[in-house]
Amino acid sequence: MIIRRIALLAIACVFSLSAQCFGENACCAPSSCCQGDEAAFVTLTDAVPDAILEIRYFSTYNFVGTRIDGYLEPTALLTREAAEALRAVSDDVKAMGYRLKIYDAYRPQCAVDNFVRWSKDIPDTLMKQYFYPDLDKSVLFEQEYIMARSGHTRGSTVDLTLFDMTTEKEVDMGGTFDWFGEESHPDFCGNPETGEYTGGTSPAGRTITAEQFANRMILRRAMLRHGFKPLSSEWWHFTLVNEPFADTYFSFPVHQLKK
Ligand SMILES: [Zn+2]
Repeated sequence: MIIRRIALLAIACVFSLSAQCFGENACCAPSSCCQGDEAAFVTLTDAVPDAILEIRYFSTYNFVGTRIDGYLEPTALLTREAAEALRAVSDDVKAMGYRLKIYDAYRPQCAVDNFVRWSKDIPDTLMKQYFYPDLDKSVLFEQEYIMARSGHTRGSTVDLTLFDMTTEKEVDMGGTFDWFGEESHPDFCGNPETGEYTGGTSPAGRTITAEQFANRMILRRAMLRHGFKPLSSEWWHFTLVNEPFADTYFSFPVHQLKK
């Protein structure tokens, strides 16, 4: 009897998992589908209505040049905790005349797998001139521009910039989202701890101005004030310090969640 009950439970469990797997649009193989539960997530714009979305991996304007696996809709998801902290950041920068512009938030594992596959397809350099003109594509994986795991997959990491409500443009950060190179490091041309601009150039001869460095600092300080931590290689990338799923890599696809 107990064995029969366990069997029934197992069948019910498999059925409920497959029900969340979005049929034809399944993000991942059935064996790895729906790891973790999207119930702990919210749609970013429900939590932060002032945010502007530009979901690059749903569009083709990204370093791959195609829509990325797992992005079913041009939306952004975060854990409830990360979204609440981001709301505080948004309120903070709004008082300074800015909006948050979101490029990416939760990223399913199958999207990360898509990046890894692309990085090993060396002849495919469709977007090189826009995202990695100074690098040979063959170094992207070994130099960890592309990795097999991403903090985004844990649901409390966000890629973003500032949007100036007066000029109606993105704030000039002296470099674009997903630019592969040391020009994207927060300590490029300055000290992010003190905010001091030092100037300098990258091996490719690129630089950023004092104003562009200062703009990066405005974003960084606002994020750090509300519980996020930065990454040493990307000025646009931040993770909630007290992330609720520090060891879970989710795989459900990006789509608008029910409120
Ligand atoms: Zn990121």
